[in-house]
Amino acid sequence: MDKKSLTTSSFHIKLALIILIILLFFVVSVQVAHAAEWQSGNYRWANGTRLMMYRGYISGEYFNWAATSVSNWNSALKQGSSNVQFVIAASPYASKGVIYYEGNYGKNGWVGLATGISLKAQGIYIVDGYFQIQLNTYAPYNPNITAKRCATAHEMGHTLWLGDVNTVSSGNDRLMWWTTTSNTAPTLSDICVLKTRY
Ligand SMILES: [Zn+2]
Repeated sequence: MDKKSLTTSSFHIKLALIILIILLFFVVSVQVAHAAEWQSGNYRWANGTRLMMYRGYISGEYFNWAATSVSNWNSALKQGSSNVQFVIAASPYASKGVIYYEGNYGKNGWVGLATGISLKAQGIYIVDGYFQIQLNTYAPYNPNITAKRCATAHEMGHTLWLGDVNTVSSGNDRLMWWTTTSNTAPTLSDICVLKTRY
């Protein structure tokens, strides 16, 4: 499909699906009621994508762990065949990127929130747009270094279109477990799922 054909009605259906999935993304990330894993939505970054990841708005443990998470997720991605990788960037990219923010967003139900912005797809492939990740410094939610590391790494998984896991049979050992407070890196189970997409 070339870029021109994206104006067809089939694209609008896909766009509606993407918007719906983004809305689900929000609901799921709020860590209240959870629907099924929306990773069955099947989207993924196009092969060879370099996801430019910007850390300029975060500090301390979040800043450090974002870099470690780049290494961890890149190692996991290398087990697949898509050649998608994260790259730490010197400036925020509004296309094919991930931008982290931190702030005291208060007692709102989430420790971290990944939101897709201006995402565009061709078929199952995301070809443009970016994700913002908000990390909530509200102390009771992220009380220690491990909690901050979990949130930083987990939200990065969402930017690969991986969904929350909320049924024990799908693996409560996973970094993508919806309320993980113990995993700071993708586990073998996370990598198994990742390899079905990348
Ligand atoms: Zn999540």
